[in-house]
Amino acid sequence: MPDGQVFGTICVLDRKANAYSQTYEALVAQFKDLVESHLKLLHLNRALEFKNQEMQTYLDEINTLRGIVPMCALCKKIRDDKGAWHPVEHYLYRHPQADISHTYCAECFEKHFGIPADGSYKADDAG
Ligand SMILES: [Zn+2]
Repeated sequence: MPDGQVFGTICVLDRKANAYSQTYEALVAQFKDLVESHLKLLHLNRALEFKNQEMQTYLDEINTLRGIVPMCALCKKIRDDKGAWHPVEHYLYRHPQADISHTYCAECFEKHFGIPADGSYKADDAG
C-alpha cells in the first residue's frame, strides 16, 4: 500500500517443488515493485482527483464572489476593483450577469454623513 502496509501476497502454486533461479526471483520482485507502484499511482490519482474537485469548488466560490458588485446606496455608482466609482450603466454594460451589494461612494458618504470618507475624520473635529 502507499502507506507501507502489506496489501497482499503474490502467490505462485505448482505441484512440485521448484528451485527458482535468481533471475526468476528478481523478476517476481520486480513484479511486486510494479504492482506497488501501480497501487501508489492509483492512490495519488484519487488524491489528485479529490484536490481538483476541491479547487473547482473554491474557483466557483471566487467567481460567485467576483459577481457581487459594491454599489453606492444613494447615487447608484459602482466601485471597481481599483476603488474608482463609475455610473451603473457603464458597469452593467460590461458585466450583464453581475449581482449588486449596497454601500456608499466617497462623495455620497461625505454628503450624507458629513464625515470625510478618506478616514481623516477625528472625533475632535465634531463640534
Ligand atoms: Zn454615491
